[in-house]
Amino acid sequence: MDEILIKNARLIGSEAVTENRADLLIADGRLKKIGTGLKAENARIIDAGGLAAAPGLVDVHVHFRDPGFIYKEDIHTGARAAAKGGFTSVVMMGNTKPSIDSPEILSELLERAAEEEINIYSAANLTKGMLGKEVTCLEELKRAGAVCFSDDGHPVLDEKLLKEALKRAAVLRVPVSLHEEDPAYIKNNGINEGAVSKALETGGSDRMAEISLVKRDIELAIETGARLDIQHISTKEAVELVREGKRRGGDIHAEATPHHFTLTEEAVKVFGTNAKMNPPLRTEEDRHAIIEGLRDGTIDIIATDHAPHSRNEKGQEFTKAPSGITGLETAFALGITELVDKGYLSLEELIRLMSCNPAKIFGLEAGRLTEGEKADIIIFDPEAEWIFREEEQESKSFNSPFYGRRLRGRILYTICNGRVVYDAGAALADHPGPAVTQRDEKQRFITPVRAGAEGWMKYKERARVISQERLAEGIFSLWMETEIAKVSVPGQFISVYAKDSSRLLPRPISICETEGNRLRIVYRTVGGGTKEFSGYESGDMIEVLGPLGNGFPEEEETALLIGGGIGLPPMLALAKSRPADKNIIVAGYRNSDMFLLNELAEHGTLHIALESLKDASFGESGEISEELRIIKELLEKGVIASCSGGNVLDAIRENSLKERVLFACGPTPMLRALKDFSQKENIRAWFSLEQRMACGIGVCLACVCDTKERDEHSRVNNKRICREGPVFSSEEVIL
Ligand SMILES: [Zn+2]
Ligand SMILES: [Zn+2]
Repeated sequence: MDEILIKNARLIGSEAVTENRADLLIADGRLKKIGTGLKAENARIIDAGGLAAAPGLVDVHVHFRDPGFIYKEDIHTGARAAAKGGFTSVVMMGNTKPSIDSPEILSELLERAAEEEINIYSAANLTKGMLGKEVTCLEELKRAGAVCFSDDGHPVLDEKLLKEALKRAAVLRVPVSLHEEDPAYIKNNGINEGAVSKALETGGSDRMAEISLVKRDIELAIETGARLDIQHISTKEAVELVREGKRRGGDIHAEATPHHFTLTEEAVKVFGTNAKMNPPLRTEEDRHAIIEGLRDGTIDIIATDHAPHSRNEKGQEFTKAPSGITGLETAFALGITELVDKGYLSLEELIRLMSCNPAKIFGLEAGRLTEGEKADIIIFDPEAEWIFREEEQESKSFNSPFYGRRLRGRILYTICNGRVVYDAGAALADHPGPAVTQRDEKQRFITPVRAGAEGWMKYKERARVISQERLAEGIFSLWMETEIAKVSVPGQFISVYAKDSSRLLPRPISICETEGNRLRIVYRTVGGGTKEFSGYESGDMIEVLGPLGNGFPEEEETALLIGGGIGLPPMLALAKSRPADKNIIVAGYRNSDMFLLNELAEHGTLHIALESLKDASFGESGEISEELRIIKELLEKGVIASCSGGNVLDAIRENSLKERVLFACGPTPMLRALKDFSQKENIRAWFSLEQRMACGIGVCLACVCDTKERDEHSRVNNKRICREGPVFSSEEVIL
């Protein structure tokens, strides 16, 4: 198996005695060595400088809805969502259809689960069909692989039956996880009986529903010696009962969900059915009691209760919609944002709650970052901020109240059993290189056609501004560090988000050069958010979308480079990187581009095409302009090969450059002219587009934005925006 060497990570949740930073060598699925200055010839190197590494997260409470409800989620999408969230081990609940109440059903399920890249365990039902009438064959279920017993979704109301089950589970040393809600106290599920339910006149779930059962079951657990796990604890009284139960020596544990430590009943007013769950979100006092419980060890597990439901189901009115929200992809960041950032917990403590403790309590081989252990490891950036967006998630369902929420702490790699199962930068690797497709031969027109909107969304990445430099009046050069650089080529574009990530700046910016994971853009401040962009400073973390457009293919050997306006910087980069290209046409420029002309001249034979030489190049009183003076100078020195007083097409004709493939980047009118020309003259041409285009050429933002942004753009630029996505037909090409 391939080796992985993680360099310079800050270790969290490891007992290893190391310096601040250490290297981790992974081989044969195990964490082979922790140390400094480790070397491995053939290993994949992950540079974790500035990042943290911790044992893979463990979620002992997920609903993958498989079998029976796979329109909500299935084992595979659930596993993908888990990996993205940093979870390497999960325990599925058994309220499926059929429910997990027999060894046969459980075995079949686990067999399928074993095919996934993360470790998937399953609970088995405590009672047959979760009807609360007859205890399942716990012994056989344990043998078939059950790691806990639970009727989650339903309380076990029959005290005598529960006592019997707990006794047997105690002998088996398998934890029992209980959903504690007595329906006797519930008028309406999923909403707290309190101020909000009153205002909405729905009636709710009274806190006593939980308190009464928790009280009863802690007694039962102490009496029987069973290991008890109170699921998704929601009230301050229940937290206190668990605290007391622990003090009395019971093997009592409790889970808190990220939503219960983040939100209160007020969220129902904002998020509607996406804030409906069982037990419900309660009051601020309860929320604080839960956080206090997490702090003092009363609550020893954070578990998501990841509960996907379809849009249709959640789209119903509040009282009819099912309860539950998804959680795998936001849990860790919510932990950092709500608990670590706010000073309640250290990162170490968070990792204990999300990895070490649940692994220990459920007896899973996980939660340890120690030499010789299974290599289940996350690498994350505790500082990185990001926004949770629908289009980026892996889960099949969309019932989360956290879309659009700014979160801190981002999983960058999830490694499970020694293999990278999630790589935040690799969404990119799924689509290596710029996808450039040649259109049919007759058309002789090449255009980028990418996978649909979904494919594009993968390319949204965070970026760190390395430097921003003002080159000339209104012209800036900016280097940024982003994974997008690895799949970008000059001539493509990126779109940049506003600093607070609230919106996409409207104007895509041309990529000038790339170097590993760095890319450089040179842009003019000409509206479209470019002014705002020029205020970004080194160190700023931003989000970028890209690469957009087609850029230029490396395999074309002798291209004629044509650049105009802001298309000049990418042309310069191209000229530098392509020794075979000696001819460059510059069409139109501004005073401030002069420095680019000088540089361009060093890398190829420069032809200048000035459509309006006379008008543009003389000052008002007839004196020779600065531009023309420089051109004259360059001509005299032999730097510029020719200067056409006409347009680009004249320059091509005059210099007999028709045999070459055109690479053009610049303003729309120039490209429009070149498109007509290339089609008429049978010249192959590649266009990189400065502006958003109708689909088929370049990529319009409509294909890549989320709905809100798309609507906004449509309103502003409806002529250019294609609503259908990147589907090409020659008639539709609008340049
Ligand atoms: Zn439950
Ligand atoms: Zn649940």
